[in-house]
Amino acid sequence: MAERIDVGLIGATGTVGVRLAELLSGHPWFRLAEVGASASSAGRAYGAALADLAEPSRGSLSKDLLDLHLKTADEPWASPLLLSALPGNAALAAEEELAGRGHVIVSNASSYRMDPAVPLIIPEVNADHLGLLDAQAERWPGAIVTNPNCAVVGLALALAPLHQVFGVGAVTVTTLQGVSGAGRPGPAAADLLGNVLPFIAGEEEKLASEPQKILGEYANGKVHPAEFPVSAHTHRVPVAHGHLLAVSVKLKRPAGPEEVEAALSSFEGGIVDLDLPTAPERVLRVLADDERPQPTLDRDRGAGMTVSVGRVRQCETLDVKFSALVHNLIRGAAGAALLNAELCLVRGVVGGGDRG
Ligand code: NAP
Repeated sequence: MAERIDVGLIGATGTVGVRLAELLSGHPWFRLAEVGASASSAGRAYGAALADLAEPSRGSLSKDLLDLHLKTADEPWASPLLLSALPGNAALAAEEELAGRGHVIVSNASSYRMDPAVPLIIPEVNADHLGLLDAQAERWPGAIVTNPNCAVVGLALALAPLHQVFGVGAVTVTTLQGVSGAGRPGPAAADLLGNVLPFIAGEEEKLASEPQKILGEYANGKVHPAEFPVSAHTHRVPVAHGHLLAVSVKLKRPAGPEEVEAALSSFEGGIVDLDLPTAPERVLRVLADDERPQPTLDRDRGAGMTVSVGRVRQCETLDVKFSALVHNLIRGAAGAALLNAELCLVRGVVGGGDRG
């Protein structure tokens, strides 16, 4: 096996950052060598900062990792590949600056997702959009690659086979989103316990715009977004992890629930032969039981990387409707970024490629 390459993790003390540190522990291709956080945490040992957060998962991290000192994004970083779990406002300046210094940034943040020169990638769906990096070469010596919003990942993965087989004409989606999707500190317990919050700032706009870029066609150096409207309603619910989506779809070539279920069940995605370590055996799983998917029962399917779909049925207003469940912290964030980093490695965006 080729030697592991060093990676840095920016935003390492956040909800997504800690999951990324866990997923990187024992990773066959990457060694987590540097960690960063805000100026208020910089200089502290990573383990001490996590202990303050009562972060239960720190037990799975190695002593060497917990002893690393946190640094700010604008300090020097040695690793060619940096995984970013920064909030959007911090990512805007920091990721451009780091790409300017020649790093490849694989980012969870929304800041550059809709930039026409920045790939917004779900490897199983649109790995070819990495071609956009040619356009970035004029802007900076490094590169920025992004993964979608956590709810969008579930929606776009479920729509991908439908768009491929029938064409998507219109979508309505209502989300029930777990608390960890809000990061820290998140909504106050007093506001959320026994309650539902019917607004998540910026979320409906992301659901209305990111899927079209992801399902768009890459041609002549550009992504031509798919053309369908998405009407989204988003809600924060008192569930720890997992976003459940109620989706209705109008198809360009009308089809019944059986045909739609068959398209969903047979979807494999375009990276099966790359053997990326974080790729699940099945990217979509259609569940037969009317009571599923449920966050507590189904979010960890495929180590959190499989999107579960259920209750595929006729829609009275559009064509078909179904439920989809995505683990917001794994397939929706940390696992998504790691899979993108693996794709970047095999495609030679960083470190020369030829792995696996
Ligand atoms: P979070 O819990 O608030 O964590 C933010 C992290 O960024 C912390 O490590 C924080 O360090 C660090 N940070 C904050 N301001 C900084 C600055 N100016 N410079 C350097 N570091 C800074 O957020 P999160 O939920 O993990 O989300 C991280 C990113 O992923 C966001 O862009 C979010 O939109 C995106 N995302 C989140 C999810 C999810 O399910 N949570 C899903 C998809 C995408 P300190 O500890 O020092 O404050």
